[in-house]
Amino acid sequence: MKFFSVRTKLIFILSLILLSGFFITNLISYKASRESLRASIIDSSLPLARDNIYSEILRDLARPIFVSSLMANDTFLKDWVLEGEKNPDLVLKYLREIQERYGFFSSFFVSDKTGYYYHFEGVLKQIRPEDDHDVWYYRFKRLNAEYDLDVDTNEAAKNHLTIFINHRLTGYGEQFLGAVGVGLDFDRIANLLDLYREKYGRNIYMADANGVIQIHENKIHVDNTSLQEIPGLAGIADQILAAKTAPTFFEYDNGTANILLTSRYIKELGWYLLVEQDETLALKSIQNTFVQNFLLSLLITSATLVFAVLVINYFQKQLEVMATTDKLTKAYNRREFEHRFNFHTQNNIRKTADISLILFDIDHLKTINDTHGHLFGDRVIQTIAAIAADTIREGDMLVRWGGDEFVLLIFSDTDQAERIAGRLTEAVFSHDFYNGKPGEDQQTPVSISCGITCYREKDTLEMLIHRADEALYEAKKCGRNCIRTQKEPADNTPMSGKAS
Ligand code: GH3
Ligand code: MG
Repeated sequence: MKFFSVRTKLIFILSLILLSGFFITNLISYKASRESLRASIIDSSLPLARDNIYSEILRDLARPIFVSSLMANDTFLKDWVLEGEKNPDLVLKYLREIQERYGFFSSFFVSDKTGYYYHFEGVLKQIRPEDDHDVWYYRFKRLNAEYDLDVDTNEAAKNHLTIFINHRLTGYGEQFLGAVGVGLDFDRIANLLDLYREKYGRNIYMADANGVIQIHENKIHVDNTSLQEIPGLAGIADQILAAKTAPTFFEYDNGTANILLTSRYIKELGWYLLVEQDETLALKSIQNTFVQNFLLSLLITSATLVFAVLVINYFQKQLEVMATTDKLTKAYNRREFEHRFNFHTQNNIRKTADISLILFDIDHLKTINDTHGHLFGDRVIQTIAAIAADTIREGDMLVRWGGDEFVLLIFSDTDQAERIAGRLTEAVFSHDFYNGKPGEDQQTPVSISCGITCYREKDTLEMLIHRADEALYEAKKCGRNCIRTQKEPADNTPMSGKAS
């Protein structure tokens, strides 16, 4: 019981050491991976994605801005307007030419004087300040900027979302003549961002100078939502919009995840490019690895514990064997015999008549030792112990009492003990101990002598052994290789016996 509690403690401490060891190493490596992942997102992957997209967008928008500027400086257009917009076919042909040559989605000119909206496919309409669709024009006119970008529905193309590059057309002085420019399919830029979104697995969108979203994966936000309205972003929106000279990095909590964000102001557009990475999502794979590693640790710990239990059991068995048996003969030792004897007799487990004891001693072992050597004598002791173990029944007990003396504790009466002693004496005597050894004349026959007694109530082990020893002494006295039984109390002792 005590051993089991020590073993349980040992296993518990071992599992604690292993599990905490694995857990701490996993935790340290998880933290290190998390830090390095975070650093790589902040220092390299987010800025890289941002700058790649920035260059791509610039490349895509630079051309229409350039073409709009060409149109705004075209003397043909200026002259045609200044000369009173006669013959609209001329300007329509011009717009068609621009549209076809550069492959833009649209090309247009809106005259400030007449309000006509010239479009590469014809005169679309006459703009009016009260028409919602025309608000852009009046805003642009007030803006007094050289050019401006505007995402709007294209009335000429079934209200398709278009990025218009509106350029100021002036006369040869500062006189404002109208807005000229081209339209770029909004989907083109949106698709470009989609492509990057897929490629980098990040949320990429754009906002104008006021923070109003202009390009977003979710079209509902376009022209509708501003950065100030997005959960978590609201607090840093002003900082984002204020950073116009250099790319910036921010971090915010959107309510469900921690978001790492980098923004870059695109001067040419007057828009901000925002690239976001969901850090919580990025950490998922590291968290999964952490869980996998921990499960693996559990497996290794369990395997180690099973192995430890097997080893402990094995050595426990070995220790038990060493503590209870004699090394040379594997018979029980005297200590174990006393323990079991007390157990059987003190607990009155057996009826007294049910226990008999045979004390046997090898005859002339000293002579055998002297003649054939101590090792041979050892082999004789071993062989006799093996024969004795084979002779008794399971449950009976063979004990090396000391030197060449053995005890057989027989759970039966003396008649049965005599039968066993008889079989044993004969088996020893008929065994060929000198198998193949030369010098037959020197071969002392190997035999044993046995003294038998039965256990009586209130007997101590000393009393029992004493009686058996007396019987054995009688057997030796009667010429050895024989059995004597002590049936009566030791003081008035007629011996019964038989010689083999
Ligand atoms: P007896 O017939 O009277 O028993 O004669 P004996 O020579 O056997 O004498 P006794 O039993 O008194 O002495 C036992 C001898 O057995 C003494 C010792 O030399 C020998 N002996 C005891 N233990 C061992 C052992 O482990 N190995 C060997 N080889 N001899 C042992
Ligand atoms: Mg002897």
